[in-house]
Amino acid sequence: MNSKKNTSQKEFWIYLHPYVYVSVKFSHAILYNTLNGFLLDYRNNPEMIRLLKKLNSDRNLYVIKIGEGSLTPGILQFIRKVRDSFSGDIMPVSYGETKPINFKPIPGVQYGYDDLISNGRGKRNLLARDSIRDYLDVLAVYINNECNQRCTFCSFVFRQCDHCHSSNGKREELSLDIIKRLMDEVKSGNVSNLKILGGDIFRYSQFPALVRLLDKSGLQKEYYIQGLNLKSNISKLKLLSGEKNLLNILEHSPFNFCELSGIIEECKGYGVKVKVMCLIETGRDLETIADFLERFPLYENDISLIPIFNGANIDFFENYVYLTRESIVDAKSTLKEIFSRSLINTNNFRRLSISCDGSVFSNMNLQKIGNINTTDIYSIVETELNYGSGWRKLRKNVVPCNRCPYNALCPSISNYEFVLKRYNLCQI
Ligand code: SF4
Ligand code: SF4
Repeated sequence: MNSKKNTSQKEFWIYLHPYVYVSVKFSHAILYNTLNGFLLDYRNNPEMIRLLKKLNSDRNLYVIKIGEGSLTPGILQFIRKVRDSFSGDIMPVSYGETKPINFKPIPGVQYGYDDLISNGRGKRNLLARDSIRDYLDVLAVYINNECNQRCTFCSFVFRQCDHCHSSNGKREELSLDIIKRLMDEVKSGNVSNLKILGGDIFRYSQFPALVRLLDKSGLQKEYYIQGLNLKSNISKLKLLSGEKNLLNILEHSPFNFCELSGIIEECKGYGVKVKVMCLIETGRDLETIADFLERFPLYENDISLIPIFNGANIDFFENYVYLTRESIVDAKSTLKEIFSRSLINTNNFRRLSISCDGSVFSNMNLQKIGNINTTDIYSIVETELNYGSGWRKLRKNVVPCNRCPYNALCPSISNYEFVLKRYNLCQI
């Protein structure tokens, strides 16, 4: 037996499967199997961090050679875990001296958003005018700000979720002509969801004409109305019937389910598809809704729950909203989702909001990026792509997430984080 063969018999290839995601940040490393959710988490374990760093390097592409003498108890345990979880394996080098070919997953995007935003002078050339239209998917349009209610939460809830909002200033509405022009502009684009919000949308001066115009657009539409404002406008409900319309009724605690179920039935009677968005501020709110659904399970698909931060319920957020390792594992993120989150903010990307004075936002918590009264919508999309900060608000760029290996596994930065002014709403 020659000496070369002896050496080969005592060496091994350790490899990871291509559907495994590895991230190493300082003294913290994780390995996550995107097929079955298996997660390994090593903190302050220099041996494992060195090993995962080596496996993850672009040079090694998830395959490293290791001598028999280097197979410490820690590394053997690691191999057992990756093998048992179908995340990787080990094989003797004697099976073949050539390094096995492996495909470490690497993010690839059609138009290279990172290139686009860092390319200085040439950036506009990267996108043909036609492809700009691919970058707008969801439009939230605040058609007016008129409302007779005086909700205490009016000034802050719309910054956290799709919710009506009435400013204290002068009464304003987006003119029907501007909305018509907007519909003409997006006609040949990729917009798949149009959200219509107010104020009280039923107080829009030409509401029936607006609904007719939007129906002609063929887009899927979601209308938003506070439950209090719906009661006085039941007669207008039939305007919103139709397969492509959904009415979202916004409800806050205390929930009156008897009244609510009556409204749901009435909407359905008019042929209006309806969803009740229950804004949740406490654990007690959750219990109330769970209790109602237990008694009336047929309403399960009609109700969605939206947590709301009211400035005094951080305990509720810690208990029910904060990310945990379990919630991240349960989310079973695919590689595509993980890589998307490392390049774009998936909550904001391809989405714009327009307020009733025409101002356009990539996120209602950020500065406006244009005005629809003076600029066409796709020029504003181009502005956001080239210079905006909403669509590329990434965990990898903010403290402390930039030092955390979970930063692409966690959901993109959400409105709650803008409002709470901290990015680590987690218990990790
Ligand atoms: S119903 Fe909506 S728009 Fe009116 S005051 Fe309440 S939150 Fe504001
Ligand atoms: S929220 Fe930030 S700090 Fe918390 S686990 Fe995710 S990336 Fe890490």
